[in-house]
Amino acid sequence: MKKGLIFVISGPAGSGKGTVVKLLREMIPTLGYSVSATTRAPRPGETDGVNYHFMSREDFLKLLENGMVLEYTEYCGNFYGTLKSEAEKVLAEGRDIILEIEVDGALQVKSLLPDDTVTVMLIAPDRDELERRLRGRGTEADEVIVKRLDRAIEEVALAEKYDYVVTNETDRSEECANNIRSIIAAEHLRYRRMKDTVDIYRG
Ligand code: 5GP
Repeated sequence: MKKGLIFVISGPAGSGKGTVVKLLREMIPTLGYSVSATTRAPRPGETDGVNYHFMSREDFLKLLENGMVLEYTEYCGNFYGTLKSEAEKVLAEGRDIILEIEVDGALQVKSLLPDDTVTVMLIAPDRDELERRLRGRGTEADEVIVKRLDRAIEEVALAEKYDYVVTNETDRSEECANNIRSIIAAEHLRYRRMKDTVDIYRG
């Protein structure tokens, strides 16, 4: 059985990551997805167990204490973390998994599982467009938007630590998802991952 890989996609808030990841999952139905745990309150339209496992700080800290979290971070005052159980379930089936997480967590996963992790940073084409997208969502108070914008700019500065950087041009999410699909295909064809197939010829 081929080994599944972990594709970590980070994108500052407003990079359009949600839409791109949704498209990607439609393009590759076998791609696993991890529902993160968070202490932030659900936004209108979000469902517990689908968008996130929403929980109290106390419950999140219990998960941490019990070693049930693969990576986590505190982001704009709330905890977010990937549950080991979510990732293990998918990888045990030999499927790839996509983790839609911010920079801190992405780098934790990369250093924990360097051979099996590919990091992709998704960015808006420029700063003005990023701000427009953040304000356009209209679900957050101005103070929260400013916080997210600052954090987003900090995150883009860390792009150098990623394997790939993909821009998400306005109204071209499909093209962006296609680029990530190419990355997924190419990563599976790296020599070190194809070695068993090549070795068959060595006899
Ligand atoms: P939001 O509140 O907009 O849903 O998410 C805020 C940020 O947290 C986004 O950058 C999102 O990718 C990130 N995030 C979501 N789940 C996780 C997680 O499990 N771990 C980490 N490290 N970041 C996460």
